[in-house]
Amino acid sequence: MIHKGSCHCKAVTYEIEASATLDVTDCNCSICSKSGYLHLIVNKEKFKLLSGKDNLNTYTFDTGEAKHLFCKTCGIKSFYIPRSHPDSYSVNVRCWMKKRLSLSKPRLLTAKIGRKILTS
Ligand SMILES: [Zn+2]
Repeated sequence: MIHKGSCHCKAVTYEIEASATLDVTDCNCSICSKSGYLHLIVNKEKFKLLSGKDNLNTYTFDTGEAKHLFCKTCGIKSFYIPRSHPDSYSVNVRCWMKKRLSLSKPRLLTAKIGRKILTS
């Protein structure tokens, strides 16, 4: 099914194709824990940016592999390119338009100090 998401001001909107039951991941790394990001990894071909391409700022830190994409207007990161899956997008399920969703209990992704990401 098609899910739609956006930043807060709706300058950035997208849609993705995914099932109704979603296997989501919570991450305790330094940036995700501060923003409460709830991850769903999607293949790039299942992701379609509908608006806001020119309204995104890219923030990087540490290895620079992850591309954190923030709306220039409202500052919300509704999707980005994660270090763990550089060929995919991670979308923030908390940024989706209101809809009945069936979410798995979030799997905890533990970010180790250093470069490796380990799942627990
Ligand atoms: Zn925005």
